[in-house]
Amino acid sequence: MLIESIVRKTLGLKRHRVKEVKEEDGSLSVHLVPDGRFKVICSVCESKGPGYDTLRERQWKHVPLWGIPVVLVYAPRRVHCARCGIKVESIPGTKGKSPLSVPLSIVLASWAKEVAWQVVGRFFGFHWNTVRKAVKDVVDYGLRHREIGNVLLIGIDEISRRKGHVYHTQVYDLISKRLLWSGEDRTSETLETFCDEMGEEHCEQIEAVCCDMWAPYVDVIKARLPNAILVFDKFHIVRHLMDAVDKVRREEARELKAENPEVLKKTRYVWLKNPWNLTDKQKVRLSYLEKLNLKINRAYLLKEAFRRFWDYTYPAWAKKYLDQWFWWATHSRLQPMREFAWMIRRHQNDILNYFKVRIDNGAVEGLNNKAKSISHRAFGYIVPQKPSTLLSITEWGNFQCHN
Ligand SMILES: [Zn+2]
Repeated sequence: MLIESIVRKTLGLKRHRVKEVKEEDGSLSVHLVPDGRFKVICSVCESKGPGYDTLRERQWKHVPLWGIPVVLVYAPRRVHCARCGIKVESIPGTKGKSPLSVPLSIVLASWAKEVAWQVVGRFFGFHWNTVRKAVKDVVDYGLRHREIGNVLLIGIDEISRRKGHVYHTQVYDLISKRLLWSGEDRTSETLETFCDEMGEEHCEQIEAVCCDMWAPYVDVIKARLPNAILVFDKFHIVRHLMDAVDKVRREEARELKAENPEVLKKTRYVWLKNPWNLTDKQKVRLSYLEKLNLKINRAYLLKEAFRRFWDYTYPAWAKKYLDQWFWWATHSRLQPMREFAWMIRRHQNDILNYFKVRIDNGAVEGLNNKAKSISHRAFGYIVPQKPSTLLSITEWGNFQCHN
């Protein structure tokens, strides 16, 4: 097979021909020319029209062949489109102003999903920046073709990078379990931007939102998602509870340091783990510790009792149980547990909404980790002008090559 026909087939040329393939400066230059038998296609609306003029020659990087760089060379024409006016023609295998051919962008972006961008660059003989451009092209394509029409349940979560110094707000579609949007920081402005991009109509359709008890989010949700039931995320609540339990342990360990420094050593997970996940050794340790009348043991019992709360079916019964638990916790003489109990009380209505709409952010946890590892591979790279780009990096999952 001749190189000409390989190019013709891989680019899907119909209205263009390969004039010649030349070796220039160590790369293969594929010179394309229009096939005069056909009318010109408008790149905006894809309709046919008469040619208007011809622009200067342009070059696009294409997929290397046997390690040899390949460049497409073509002088685009402009079309006199009945609908759009004078527009650049549609050129097979290229998109907009990108200096990369579409097949090249797809190849690079697909590899960039798997390995570090620098490695992709080295492997294909491109600069890191070329890989970045390819990713951006593909991501932009994914965003343009994204369907957010019927998202009804959303989950909002934050991820942190650089040891909690940089936050990202992630918005998930809880039904299809995919990332919808991501923006820098976790302020009310972040979520406002999401609502702006989503548009009022979509915002009004959203039926329920699941998130942490984080005031900036809550304010925006109440203001901008008027029909959504707010449900505080079960997993976040449990995490706050765990923090309280651990605080009791640390405080008590400090108090006991003088008389009994060993007793609470390395017991963190004994108290925090689910009892059925304890190792045999941890079980023995726990049953010994339980007899010592420690503060941490009271916190532990409260934590375990809280678990039953989620099992209720009817909101009224759940509320009754929560009231009871609140009483125990506030009378426990354990400051961190009391603080947790009061936080729950303050947010009680939205916590009890869980018994109306049973949603939580459990399923998106995995997606969060994926976003983190991807941003690691990209060295935290985010297109500066567009805060919502990180999302699109994970959106590749939805990206398919349409030819
Ligand atoms: Zn047009």
